[in-house]
Amino acid sequence: MAYITINKEHFAHNLCVIQEHLKMINPQKNIQVGAVLKDNGYGHGLEIMSNLAQQNNITSVFVKNYEEAIKIAHKFDSVTFFYGIAHKKITNIYPTIHSFNDIFNMERIIGDLSGMGVELKVNIGMNRNGIELRDLEQYIEMILQKNMRLIGVFSHNGYGDEIDDEFQRECDLHDILKEKVRQLSRQLGFPLPRFHSLSSSCTLRAKYSDDDLVRIGIALYGYLTNEIEIESAKNLKPILKLYANKISTRVLNPAEKIGYGGKSIIHEKTAISTYDIGYGDGMYRVNGSKKVLLPNGKEILPRSSMDCFSCYDTANEICVIDDAAYIASLFDTIPYEVLTRLSPFIERRII
Ligand SMILES: *Cc1c(COP(=O)(O)O)cnc(C)c1O
Repeated sequence: MAYITINKEHFAHNLCVIQEHLKMINPQKNIQVGAVLKDNGYGHGLEIMSNLAQQNNITSVFVKNYEEAIKIAHKFDSVTFFYGIAHKKITNIYPTIHSFNDIFNMERIIGDLSGMGVELKVNIGMNRNGIELRDLEQYIEMILQKNMRLIGVFSHNGYGDEIDDEFQRECDLHDILKEKVRQLSRQLGFPLPRFHSLSSSCTLRAKYSDDDLVRIGIALYGYLTNEIEIESAKNLKPILKLYANKISTRVLNPAEKIGYGGKSIIHEKTAISTYDIGYGDGMYRVNGSKKVLLPNGKEILPRSSMDCFSCYDTANEICVIDDAAYIASLFDTIPYEVLTRLSPFIERRII
């Protein structure tokens, strides 16, 4: 059976790279690393990744929705989910508020929301999610009026990967947001929430931050997609490898064909095997429009199938992915997509 390995030393190493950087950009403040474990831990497996985060003393994590949050809440001080609503009040699970509707919808299901912790997401220019800065006071008043706990106020800088100066503009807007919240906290008498804005690429390019927390996803898994050269990014190590096992081997003669449509044709008598990973497992379909190589240099012969691919090899086991960035570049996408596509049904092993 195909399986995925997750390298725990590489994970600890990547965390260290980020922590070192945070110490460098603000030695006075102990900025926490919040691990982003959304979308089944970026395809690595929520169970395994939450265990690794816990073992490495990460106390705040972020997931996509309430369903992911309840699975791992017992392992952390705080679990924030980005989208959708909570179905129950759980002390350390915090929904993200993007609109009044989130609050009304939760009231409809849960009833009294008093005591519930929430994080407020504010739009600083990406124009995707979150409330507008001008509505901040209204939202905070509503949260206080319903006796909810405002745990955090955060934004999302959407320009970590770009070269232009929009990154800095969004940092400045985030600072304005923080100042407004501080003012309101004094004025309305609520405890100051935690502040955060930076993802992996933003964090590693930032020269300074006085936020309480950064939200790190892709860098913990060992990748970064910045256009800008970032020295520390070169030290990140991918933590995932995908392996396939052999299904069968046969020896074919010249002119014999392999697979759907006989796309691959044998030129000399060769042993060829099939392995148990296909596009149904989340690996991209290899159709012959480009050459896709395995880490051992052998080609995945077109066309690959839903459950298997063929290759000129006879090993019992073969590594299919050890660098998601290579597959991403071939298929015109980013490592995030290569990783999150991996089927949750593939066995995960910690090494
Ligand atoms: C996914 C996500 C992150 C993490 O981004 P990376 O680039 O993987 O570090 C941070 N914040 C929000 C709101 C996200 O959706």
